[in-house]
Amino acid sequence: MTTLTTEADVSGEVTLRGHRIRTGLFLDGRWQSRPDGFDVINPSTGAVIARMADGTADDGLAALDSAARAQDGWRHVAPRDRADLFHRAHRILLERADAIVETMTLESGKPVAEARGEFQLSTDFFLWYAEQVAHLHGTYAEGSRGGYRVVTTHQPVGPSLLITPWNFPLLMIARKAGAALGAGCTVVVKSAKETPLTCALFVEALDDAGFPPGVVNLVHTTHSADVSAAVMADPRLRKVSFTGSTGVGSTLLKQAAPGVVNASMELGGDGPFVVLEDADVELAAQQAIVCKFRNAGQACVAANRIIVHEAVAEEFTARFVQLTEALRVGDGFEEGVDVGPIISARQRDGVARLVDQLSSIDSELLTGGAPVDGDGYFFTPTVFRINDRENDVCNQELFAPIATIYTVDSTAEAIRVANDTSYGLAAYVFTRDLSRAIAVSERLESGMVGINRGIMADPAAAFGGVKSSGLGREGGHEAIYEFLEPKYLAITVDESKGLD
Ligand code: NAD
Repeated sequence: MTTLTTEADVSGEVTLRGHRIRTGLFLDGRWQSRPDGFDVINPSTGAVIARMADGTADDGLAALDSAARAQDGWRHVAPRDRADLFHRAHRILLERADAIVETMTLESGKPVAEARGEFQLSTDFFLWYAEQVAHLHGTYAEGSRGGYRVVTTHQPVGPSLLITPWNFPLLMIARKAGAALGAGCTVVVKSAKETPLTCALFVEALDDAGFPPGVVNLVHTTHSADVSAAVMADPRLRKVSFTGSTGVGSTLLKQAAPGVVNASMELGGDGPFVVLEDADVELAAQQAIVCKFRNAGQACVAANRIIVHEAVAEEFTARFVQLTEALRVGDGFEEGVDVGPIISARQRDGVARLVDQLSSIDSELLTGGAPVDGDGYFFTPTVFRINDRENDVCNQELFAPIATIYTVDSTAEAIRVANDTSYGLAAYVFTRDLSRAIAVSERLESGMVGINRGIMADPAAAFGGVKSSGLGREGGHEAIYEFLEPKYLAITVDESKGLD
């Protein structure tokens, strides 16, 4: 049962399902209330579950002020001590698993099983960075014409702004903050207004682990554009790491240009899910279900266009529709629910408009297509077969529980259709021929390719996109270097000194 709060709770905390959660901003090591607040809604019920302090541009600048003051001290915390803090925070997060998982389900609507999966992945990411912190190396080389040595080290970029979306409330903050803090950068986190509670629990765990004041700062706000514009214009900010839509990402890149602020961008996707004629059709259909309907389709790596060879199109489509119709839609706390709600009433209306648009082109609606009656923002999992792929609606990120199936007559055509998009985040290919899988993967214009699998996020993997899906990588060995800059020291060496 959700515990509802009715009065404004800008003063400090809220209790949900027995878990106490801070509702203030976290600046310079202190939770701070604000006179203005905004409501957090449970999308499964439409009920207000909390009221958060609504930060202003001045709060953003105060957060940056605190991050800038803490930067030098944090950078000089010895790697082993920094790693110890990470390990302590990791243990605290594990102890608070139930609170975090249930809060994620409350504010984002995702089913508890999905929230648990996200929790595990997020804490694994955090652990990955904990293990990396004490293993950052430099290089040593002779100058090319002798006479000196080339010593290269890595230094933290500096105070960083981390802007996260609502669709993976824990994973996004854990992945960014882990890399930034591990590298020795201090951070200002700007949460998404739909899911600030999970961010608050994450930051509280870091505070309780002993991260020094000012190293981590958290701002919730309904004035994202004002807060980030103010912070981005301040020369003390040296890095922005953003996950969200391509439109907002490009605005931030423009804001980064005058001060040449280092930028990493994880943006939208238009994932092609390619099923070739020699694929294991049952496996492809099952993986397509997870890849498409996880998080009610609100994932950047979702299968946005399912591209199937004509030889297996009928068999695949029939099975995929059957599996879609078996999905249970409902409140993520109910047993057996597979698909939760859309994040807001506005977005749910947007999904209905997409169905209208897709219905107006040469297509067939195979199942679904309507919102579910009730207070929550549910939408029936929907499948279209699309015959006219030239329409603009076919090349946009759906970000919805709507699957679109396209039929092609060759591998070459599948690749051409897959690449016919401005995005390039995740792509998927299903075939039993390893050689073909590799040849096709290399031709797909994307940052990541799942071969015979529809889920691929992993701490050991460099996650990110090409084209308008972004710049830079999160995870893998690469991620921490997004927050580090190489620095080269030229050291004169008098060779004769070795002969004295
Ligand atoms: P969004 O771009 O609207 O919002 C993302 C974040 O940016 C939120 O915190 C929001 O408050 C903030 N924001 C909005 N306008 C801003 C502005 N003018 N200046 C600064 N910040 C601003 O995206 P969303 O609707 O929350 O998330 C969905 C999008 O995110 C989809 O396009 C999805 O593909 C993408 N996404 C990408 C990845 C990835 O890793 N590539 C992961 C998750 C989501």
